[in-house]
Amino acid sequence: MRYEAVIGLEVHAQMLTKTKIFCGCSTTFGSGPNTQTCPVCIGMPGVLPVLNQKSLEFSIRTGLAMNCSISPYSRFARKNYFYPDLPKGYQISQYEHPICEHGHIDITTDSVTKRIGITRIHMEEDAGKNIHEGAGSYSFVDLNRTGVPLMEIVSEPDIRSPKDAAEYMKRLRTILRYLEVCDGNMDQGSLRCDANVSVRPVGQKEFGTRAEIKNINSFRFVEKAIEYEIRRQISVVSDGGKVVQETRLWDSAKGITESMRSKEEAHDYRYFPDPDLVPIITEPTWIESIRASLPELPEAKKKRFIADYGLPEQDASQLTDERAIADWFEASVTAGGQAKSVANWIMGDLMRSLNDENKTIGECSLKPEQLAGMIKLIDNGTISGKIAKTVFEDMYRTGRDAADIVNEKGLVQISDSSEIEKAVDDILSRSQGEIERYRAGDEKLLGFFVGQVMKTTKGKANPQMLNELLKKKLSS
Ligand code: ADP
Ligand code: MG
Ligand code: ZN
Repeated sequence: MRYEAVIGLEVHAQMLTKTKIFCGCSTTFGSGPNTQTCPVCIGMPGVLPVLNQKSLEFSIRTGLAMNCSISPYSRFARKNYFYPDLPKGYQISQYEHPICEHGHIDITTDSVTKRIGITRIHMEEDAGKNIHEGAGSYSFVDLNRTGVPLMEIVSEPDIRSPKDAAEYMKRLRTILRYLEVCDGNMDQGSLRCDANVSVRPVGQKEFGTRAEIKNINSFRFVEKAIEYEIRRQISVVSDGGKVVQETRLWDSAKGITESMRSKEEAHDYRYFPDPDLVPIITEPTWIESIRASLPELPEAKKKRFIADYGLPEQDASQLTDERAIADWFEASVTAGGQAKSVANWIMGDLMRSLNDENKTIGECSLKPEQLAGMIKLIDNGTISGKIAKTVFEDMYRTGRDAADIVNEKGLVQISDSSEIEKAVDDILSRSQGEIERYRAGDEKLLGFFVGQVMKTTKGKANPQMLNELLKKKLSS
């Protein structure tokens, strides 16, 4: 029997608002425990929550970017459960009337594009954090995160493979970062996901029973956790067993999912409309003004890069993964750099240098105009592509212009044929043995001659002229 997996993701994205969703406390990450709290977010009796308008706007922005319809009427609901990190005993979330519904995004893996439905996007508040390490026989609770605004983005069960699940999550992250509504920082928990996984015999219409894997915080783990879970479920059903509907926890150290609790049903949470918060009526004019303010999204930008700059799909896709990189690319092209060369330098040397230092492109001292300047020096023959590598390194490190570096270090390419010829003759006069072997058919030796001339010219001989000249001399 062959099985196929059915996967739906619930992604939690922390919104980039300065303050919490129902009070004015700061959302800054990493402050001392319980320093960012007030009577509202620690759930004192008698307080009243007030919705942070930015969090509503961010949710609508996201919904529009993900092709959702924006609800004209939306409400908050209380999700009741008991846990020490939840001081009110309920989480303010949305249930019957989420702010966004019926959207979709497209993902591409192995050159196949698939549409993944977005069931809903709703707003909710985050809970606090229990701390068990270093507390002896006690546990501590840090409520700084309590009330931080989250969006929960729920997908349809449209995903069929672990790889597609990871790609879907990457795509979400890219879009959220383009929209500047979430920093997508998975190490700090700004983006995390629960994966719902079931299996069914290929050809069967009905879905199998699903398990929900909680708390996955990296793309690699999404893939690994789902892979493991599919294997586990297939082995359960092939042995004649039944998959239990339950919540499981991904253990990244062991590489397995473990049963945490039987899955709660919605009624276990006793959802009801939150009487402290008024319903949200969204004005169509406001929605339209938010729509008009959306940036060009990654998919559209990618298509434009292919059409306008003639870039291969792969390049366009890589350059548009991050808006800041796409902008950097365009600035460099606008400054006169040839598009494909700019793309190559960004995807090669620049990315490598940034990765080595763990820097983002925004922290880079090299400016797009400077890369364009260097590419012009290559294109007009002032420096060779090989010398450019050293110039680039210097430029990247010091932030100086390529022309200054080239002048100061005397790196101008030798394109004077008589000068190259002199160096060639000099080498050939000392290489009788090699010349004979070359003429006897050992053509690999051309590299040897090139290397020797480059050595005496400190790499500055125009490679094309050198090659032509050598071939001419060696064949005569
Ligand atoms: P909750 O998990 O909060 O009860 P839902 O029942 O709406 O919420 O389902 C959440 C997620 O589970 C959605 O992303 C949905 O696509 C996915 N899902 C639902 N049924 C299945 C299934 N049989 N197999 C895999 N995923 C599923
Ligand atoms: Mg769930
Ligand atoms: Zn507060």
